[in-house]
Amino acid sequence: MGRHTGPVCKRCRRAGMKLFLKGDRCYMAKCPIEQGHPPPGPQTRRRPRLKDYGLQLQEKQRLRYMYGMREGQFRLFFQRALRSRGVTGEVLLQALELRLDNLVYRMGLVPSRPAARQFVRHGHVRVNGVKVNIPSFKAKPGDVIEASATRRSRELAKPHLDAAESRGWPPWLTVEKNGFKAMVDHVPSREEIAPMVNEQLIVELYSK
Ligand code: SF4
Repeated sequence: MGRHTGPVCKRCRRAGMKLFLKGDRCYMAKCPIEQGHPPPGPQTRRRPRLKDYGLQLQEKQRLRYMYGMREGQFRLFFQRALRSRGVTGEVLLQALELRLDNLVYRMGLVPSRPAARQFVRHGHVRVNGVKVNIPSFKAKPGDVIEASATRRSRELAKPHLDAAESRGWPPWLTVEKNGFKAMVDHVPSREEIAPMVNEQLIVELYSK
């Protein structure tokens, strides 16, 4: 499966929740979810209620779309979480949060995760002073993520950092706005992670 190039808001409408795929527009009243747009497809008949499998699949798709991952890579993350000693669902969310593209988004260098992926791929990001252009790179506590010192990188990041500051940064990141950098303080706990999904349903889906 290739990269998704279709309308991204459609994914939120299908998921029935905001997935924050479009940057600034996601925080405005013109977001289709805010406006109550229905899921894509014919609107002429009542939709059947989702049963167990449908609910589990929907929850998995929500999380996968939110982090912009393909099925194979997402499943790999799940299998790693399954092999770890912690609670599988929580470990999965923590691993997703510690991806480099997510960190770049969370600290506010870019407006969305898809933009973060591109920002990383184009070589605008340093980890502990070293250029890293792999969006799935896994950071650990103590790592310092920063925009490269070039004028171009910092010009791109500046307006988004301002917007992120007004929204507030996650408690597990220490952001130094003027340095265009952030340090990972600790692995986020479940309560500190924003995705409003029921990760237990995903565990049940993959455990069948
Ligand atoms: Fe579109 Fe963003 Fe709203 Fe999703 S959250 S529907 S991507 S504007």
